[in-house]
Amino acid sequence: MKTVLITGSTSGIGLGIATEFAKTKKFNIIFNGLESNGREIAESIGTAYGIKILFNAANMLDPLALKNMVQQGIETFGSIDVLINNAGIQHVSPIEDFPEDKWNAIIGINLNSAFHLCKAVWPQMKEQKFGRIINIASAHGLVASEFKSAYVASKHGIVGLTKTLGLEGAPYNITCNAICPGYVKTPLVEKQIADQAKAHQLSESEVVSKVMLVKQAVKDFISVESLGQMALFLASESANTITGTAIPMDGGWSAQ
Ligand code: NAD
Repeated sequence: MKTVLITGSTSGIGLGIATEFAKTKKFNIIFNGLESNGREIAESIGTAYGIKILFNAANMLDPLALKNMVQQGIETFGSIDVLINNAGIQHVSPIEDFPEDKWNAIIGINLNSAFHLCKAVWPQMKEQKFGRIINIASAHGLVASEFKSAYVASKHGIVGLTKTLGLEGAPYNITCNAICPGYVKTPLVEKQIADQAKAHQLSESEVVSKVMLVKQAVKDFISVESLGQMALFLASESANTITGTAIPMDGGWSAQ
């Protein structure tokens, strides 16, 4: 059995990825997230697929809690083989009104936490000569949209971190890759649909067709299952030469 730690895995994309890993029955899963029913969500996946789970509600803004989560995972399961940095938040605002606390929270949660977690898992991955780090970036790690300064900066930052760790991990069979999704219908996006509807004075379905998916050639939301399958492939032995990449799963958005 290998062990995967997935941040922000009690909601949305993280939960979808965790479910795909659980279905293989080849991984212990360390769940994390701030949802108040996070432990129950994690336990229900463990029971449904007959796998061992751990739940740790470490806040991405607390480096010591992140270090402790990694330590707890290694003590419980013997190793952490796959780290998926997925937890993230968004805030949409023109730069002149962008709240400073939101900027700091977005950089802290979307980018700094990945640094702390990569650093914490690194010595053990290096020693066992196996590690797979997968960062859930975004199409916004490759291209920008107006009013998302902090988010776009954080996601471009994580693509840079991914490239660097791809190089540093190469001698030790540690790969590091980013997945760059277009729009995925999760609670994070549901909130944006509501916010954009207010900002543009449109109905929510008009926001989806006229604002959100306008940049995607494929006019469909990306499924959490397809993201989970991509993460599973990147976590496999066969993906050992894929490293330092930022893989778009964005319906053709960044092809333009
Ligand atoms: P979501 O809101 O459904 O889930 C986010 C998860 O992160 C939740 O479990 C939440 O509790 C956790 N989280 C947030 N702040 C945290 C903190 N301080 N400490 C610990 N956990 C925290 O969002 P999602 O859409 O599933 O997003 C997951 C990732 O995918 C994010 O990094 C997001 O930027 C990225 N992404 C999402 C989309 C999309 O369209 N939904 C597209 C591209 C990239």
